[in-house]
Amino acid sequence: MHLIETRNLSYTYNNNLAALEGIDFVASRKSRIALLGPNGAGKSTLFKHFNGILTPTSGEVLVRGEPISKKNIHEVRKFVGIVFQNPDDQIFSPTVEQDIAFGPINLGLDPETIAHRVDSAISMLGLEDLRERVPHHLSGGEKKRVAIAGVVAMEPQVLVLDEPTAGLDPGGVEDLLAFLQTLPDRFGITVIFSTHQVELVPEIADIVYVMNRGRIIGSGTIEEIFSHEELLLSTRLQLPPLPRAIHRLRDEGVAIDMAYRYSDAETSLLKAFSRQP
Ligand code: ADP
Repeated sequence: MHLIETRNLSYTYNNNLAALEGIDFVASRKSRIALLGPNGAGKSTLFKHFNGILTPTSGEVLVRGEPISKKNIHEVRKFVGIVFQNPDDQIFSPTVEQDIAFGPINLGLDPETIAHRVDSAISMLGLEDLRERVPHHLSGGEKKRVAIAGVVAMEPQVLVLDEPTAGLDPGGVEDLLAFLQTLPDRFGITVIFSTHQVELVPEIADIVYVMNRGRIIGSGTIEEIFSHEELLLSTRLQLPPLPRAIHRLRDEGVAIDMAYRYSDAETSLLKAFSRQP
């Protein structure tokens, strides 16, 4: 059984333009899934179907094999936590600590469990020094971490992040990637994130869905998707710089292993060129 599945899902906003058309998507346990596509492809709209914020115009959304209904919406929202793109939409309490406690309080947990969850989310996101701060006065990257901590504190089994690196500086991106990479193996959490930054995808994801104009135009492993450069080009995205360079070298007949993750690409390049006379 899949944790999340959409079947032939279509959605039209009230402007009558189809934002999603015939989406078949599945997420299984402990997977790391990227939804890659340019702005306006429909990524946020699809995410909003995963916990019932939006209801399909046609087709189905199943969470743990069950269609989302009034009866199970509370459970679905505990199970699927969504971090939206703009942290200001998600942060509103007077202190960071209170903000992170908001979700667990709403779940009706006892005070001891709430305190424990808040502490562990604070430590997971490295927010110890910001505990008592006013969220409103934090930097964009700090706010983003607070928003993620608030969702993590609800202990969802599926963590959905809409453009999680938007507004982060390079150090912030690196920290976030390291955090997201550990979630499936350490906590059994499934991570689904959207991005238009192709270079992020091989660093975090095992599975990629490529979206364009409301449709999924390709899905598969990193190798399956990234070896079809024309698929990315059709959405006006391109391979990350190192894999792109390796592709060109291979086209020129250089014996070099294809690699998509930054560290693998670096190793490939070193191996290929340290052998040169
Ligand atoms: P992405 O997350 O990939 O950038 P979105 O899901 O935000 O894409 O948008 C998909 C399409 O739906 C776009 O054409 C966008 O203009 C449209 N759209 C998004 N939100 C709304 C809305 N609230 N009302 C009408 N159209 C919308």
